[in-house]
Amino acid sequence: MKIKQIDVFQVDLPYSGGTYKLSGGRLFSSFDATFVRITCDNGLEGWGESTPFGATYIAAHALGVRAGIAEIAPNLIGRDPRQVDRIYDAMDQALVGHLHAKTALDIACWDLFGKSVNLPVCELLGGSTGEAMPVISSIYAGEPEDMRGRVAAHRGQGYKSHSVKVGASESEGGPSLDAARIAAALADRQPGEYYIVDANGGMSVEHALRMLRLLPAGLDFVLEAPCATWRECISLRQRTDVPIIADELALDDRSIIQLIADDAADGIGLKISKNGGLTQGRRQRDICTAAGLTMSVQETTGSDIAFAAIVHLGQSARPNLLRSVLECRDMVSLQTASGDFPIIDGKVRAPASPGLGITPDMDVLGEPVASYF
Ligand SMILES: [Mg+2]
Repeated sequence: MKIKQIDVFQVDLPYSGGTYKLSGGRLFSSFDATFVRITCDNGLEGWGESTPFGATYIAAHALGVRAGIAEIAPNLIGRDPRQVDRIYDAMDQALVGHLHAKTALDIACWDLFGKSVNLPVCELLGGSTGEAMPVISSIYAGEPEDMRGRVAAHRGQGYKSHSVKVGASESEGGPSLDAARIAAALADRQPGEYYIVDANGGMSVEHALRMLRLLPAGLDFVLEAPCATWRECISLRQRTDVPIIADELALDDRSIIQLIADDAADGIGLKISKNGGLTQGRRQRDICTAAGLTMSVQETTGSDIAFAAIVHLGQSARPNLLRSVLECRDMVSLQTASGDFPIIDGKVRAPASPGLGITPDMDVLGEPVASYF
């Protein structure tokens, strides 16, 4: 079984909620998504997706995905896609870094691997736990009562986990506004709900400490990516008892190992394309498991094919360490593929069909923008 052809597709995915607001005045209304189809000499096709969260979230951007694939793809022709680690070696030899570009190719190889042996990807990643996984909402930063309403709306849809965005500038309201956002978002908290307060690296240590002191006692949440730099996060961690989750600083094997060595976090946001796909995600899942770090398996954003990768990796993580999986489909208004993974009572299971278990919608994906053979 050898890779014969790699086709690249591009789709703009509108944000389903109008305009998404992140700390630092970052606004997002649409996401540029890249899809790959790998076709093998036996006729099997595998699919992968990589959709960066714009160009200002991490050092990744949509044009870079397709430029990276252009560098890498010719080196994969003729290789066996089921040798996922050897495929990754070949990708690393062709291009240093750029994990978000490698991700779409890596996921497509796992899809092919599963189809070739008639097993879902989660079984190849170590085996499905069989547990339904809680999906997490993404509550962009806004007025406190509006955020409270959006949490309630997601609660009404069954969501039991919520990622609440903070990081107001001083002119917007600074720590006071952020404390009010947290208090409002958690005001109607139900038993069993899990809250991530996520600043996306947008706070100084001073801001974070002021915000935490303004909160009522006893609120149950974890604080994700409070500050942009390693030093700031370590400094904050030494001065608060709020659990710290790393996201933008947990980028790859090396940074996660360093987080553990420095005791810098209690868990990570494992985003498939940020962290390098399923081959890297599998290893990082194991590193976190060995260290006792919690995980939320997510994506920078994306549609149905990205969501399939999320649920298969999440399905292979120990339930006592898996906090949530991101329902990224909820964030975009286009469906790019169908798959049997409905959200039931706020939870999801990986599809049982071979590979990723998805069927791409070619009317939405259109014609390839590049092909390699
Ligand atoms: Mg985050």
